[in-house]
Amino acid sequence: MRARARHKHSHPRVVFQRRTPRTLTANKMAAAAVDEPRAHPAMSSSGQSSVPSLHASRPPIRDNLETETSSLQDETVDECLPFLLGEEDLGWRNDHGIPHLDRGRHIKFLHKQLGQLPGPFKAADSSRPWIFYWCLHALTLLGEDVASYRQRLIETVRPMQNLTGGFGGGFGQTSHLATTYATVLALALVGGDAAYEVVDRRSMWRWLSSLKQPDGGFQMCVGGEEDVRGAYCAAVTISLLNLPLDLPSDSPACAAGHTGLFSGLGEWIRRSQTYEGGVSAKSGFEAHGAYAFCALGCLSIIDSPHRSIPGYLDLQRLISWLSSRQYCPEGGFSGRTNKLVDGCYSHWVGGCWPLIEASLSGPQEGFAADSAAVGEAEPESLFSRAALIRYIMCCCQDLSKRGGLRDKPSKYSDAYHTCYVLAGLSSAQHKWTLASARPEAQVLGTDQWVATPYMRGEQIFDESDRVCTTHPVYVIPQHKVESILDYFASKAGF
Ligand SMILES: [Zn+2]
Repeated sequence: MRARARHKHSHPRVVFQRRTPRTLTANKMAAAAVDEPRAHPAMSSSGQSSVPSLHASRPPIRDNLETETSSLQDETVDECLPFLLGEEDLGWRNDHGIPHLDRGRHIKFLHKQLGQLPGPFKAADSSRPWIFYWCLHALTLLGEDVASYRQRLIETVRPMQNLTGGFGGGFGQTSHLATTYATVLALALVGGDAAYEVVDRRSMWRWLSSLKQPDGGFQMCVGGEEDVRGAYCAAVTISLLNLPLDLPSDSPACAAGHTGLFSGLGEWIRRSQTYEGGVSAKSGFEAHGAYAFCALGCLSIIDSPHRSIPGYLDLQRLISWLSSRQYCPEGGFSGRTNKLVDGCYSHWVGGCWPLIEASLSGPQEGFAADSAAVGEAEPESLFSRAALIRYIMCCCQDLSKRGGLRDKPSKYSDAYHTCYVLAGLSSAQHKWTLASARPEAQVLGTDQWVATPYMRGEQIFDESDRVCTTHPVYVIPQHKVESILDYFASKAGF
């Protein structure tokens, strides 16, 4: 909905009109012409109406100001409704109008992406570590064991590490925080001592120290841009590798009096919260869902989320902005105000909620998965899990021979969207609880998180379509996080 608040004195007549755009087919015009939203008789195995009215028609309140943005939004709704309503043949659907997660096709798609790629992918050469992470992570969410990729990954990424520290996107390429982050996570995903030992921790520490800036943030590469991705990628790398937090005296940040890699970082993130309540790349830019996740993830590493998130961000305004990202009838999230839903924000925005919930509830000492409240005893969610699951299952799956997951029905599937759509599906299907918190900020990696299936309300997806869990801060499976933390816990120095 985009009904805009207007000052009643300067605009005495506020008219919300239902519009019927020229692009509507006769079939859709019939659905748009009704006065009240209605449930659509999507065909299910029982033959009963199954799609809630909220997801079966256009929004009931509309602004009559037509702009390029509103037209694109209308087109997106028109694009999604047939998939939500079952007019597009997605094969079998359950009584809620939800198709199966086609694991077999998606797994095949991901293995293919890890093999030889066609020529046009040369443009993505410097993003190869990302492709490793996206595919390996998505495979683990689908329950696949990725250890068979260990040796190949080790041999592929070893030459990408520079003597001066960090990983480039390929041999001889400049070290960059994004490719370093993706490589470290990919190595953690395949696991094992030989994979962990690929990383030269001493040069990594020196390189990260050279990226630390006088204002507290991190550049993405030496002389490169400084933004909240850098803060998150650095925090993940530092904590997973158990790097010393002290800064060497030649770090640019020392000139401003910083003595540690994390000093001034929370304050730097605070400045990236915008007037809307969301988080931008850095101070003065537009709020964006991916930066919100990076900010929350980084804050959850430098201290426990119930202290650091409300300590550095205006939580209520952030919740308001995040809540506004979920659209109806689509059910998915957008990344920015007045932008369209996109499957990848299922993670970038959807993945914010476990961290927000933990910051609101604080640690639940003594919590164990088998003692968790289930069903109606569980706390209500701050977003509609069912709506997100509906968008993902109906609109984001490529159910053709190609497989994989996508932004929206008109887009091709790719490794990036397959990874983050599945991560979002996982966070909608599970509840993460901060079971215990570290005693103080500097004791990294000791917050205890517990995942349980989310069971409150009617479950709209088949149990066989529940994907695996992924750690709410590190976005790889929890046991993979614990393994790499355990390995480097014994290596306080170099
Ligand atoms: Zn996307």
